[in-house]
Amino acid sequence: MGEMPRSFEKELAYTPEIARETADLYKRVAHVMPEIEWAVHAPYIAAINKLKKEKNAVILAHNYMTPEIFHCVSDFRGDSLQLAREAAATDAKVIVQAGVHFMAETSKILSPDKTVLIPDTRAGCSLAASITGADVRLLKQKYPGLPVVTYVNTSADVKAESDVCCTSSNAVAVVEDIAREFGVDTVIMTPDEYLALNVAKQTKIKIIAWKGHCEVHERFTAQEIRDYREANPGVVVLAHPECPPEVVAEADFAGSTSAMIGYVGKHHPKRVVMVTECSMSDNVAAEHPEVEFIKPCNLCPHMKRITLPQLLHSLETMTYEVTVDPAIAERAKAAVERMLAVKMPVVAKAA
Ligand code: SF4
Repeated sequence: MGEMPRSFEKELAYTPEIARETADLYKRVAHVMPEIEWAVHAPYIAAINKLKKEKNAVILAHNYMTPEIFHCVSDFRGDSLQLAREAAATDAKVIVQAGVHFMAETSKILSPDKTVLIPDTRAGCSLAASITGADVRLLKQKYPGLPVVTYVNTSADVKAESDVCCTSSNAVAVVEDIAREFGVDTVIMTPDEYLALNVAKQTKIKIIAWKGHCEVHERFTAQEIRDYREANPGVVVLAHPECPPEVVAEADFAGSTSAMIGYVGKHHPKRVVMVTECSMSDNVAAEHPEVEFIKPCNLCPHMKRITLPQLLHSLETMTYEVTVDPAIAERAKAAVERMLAVKMPVVAKAA
């Protein structure tokens, strides 16, 4: 898609009325946002929240959205799987995905009768772009009889060719469950090589990994983590399993975005560094002023395509609608539902 039309970049005024109307919302982000910045966001927030009601729409915001989206216009917040579940459960007619394209596709797969919108079709993902459905078919030809476990960060086409999906929180349980079901000791995992290597450390099942990477998490290094510890004595390091294994090995805790949020909520560490996309630290910091967040800033350029002006434009024009071929959607849904049926072991972790 080319440049977005200029008309949606209209300037909205920060009037005393808008200030009053949005005062309570500002309290949610005041810890991480100066008032001068609020004056820019507030008119959009007021307009979006009004339009959402008129159109019977909900906004699903991923943990990597910026705080003014995450805390002030979203109806549901969380990781990609939590958002898809919410999408399936909502009574709203329209779902606006404040996240990336594969998430909108997953929402559509689980809610085929709803209109699913993504405010910018360029919001992709390096993991999802690393593999196609044809690649998965070739893998199955090369390794006949082995199940394919696919991370949710993939297109509907890839999910449709896979036996089961997984998330970063349930990957170990899914790998062990599908290996048991197929009666094999090896599984294929796509597309995240680092997630696969991190899972392999926690199970006896052998894993053949696709070599896709998240362009945000692959940039962290073990040395960087050691440097954070040296510069910030006592800091607790939380890492996402999309990071390279040597980075995860340096962390105090590794888990999905939701698991990291759970860790902060349960343990209230004095100082913490979240080794993941940087908006998440702002979103969690807004709710935990008692915790000092050390913030490395690795931004996801795809997530950052979604802004308040684009959300408003999306609702005004009902664009851009996300569709999935019903035959593909049905097979992809089977892989997602097979994952949802896997029982998670009860663990004494913070998540
Ligand atoms: S943070 Fe990584 S995995 Fe998430 S959307 Fe961006 S590129 Fe994809």
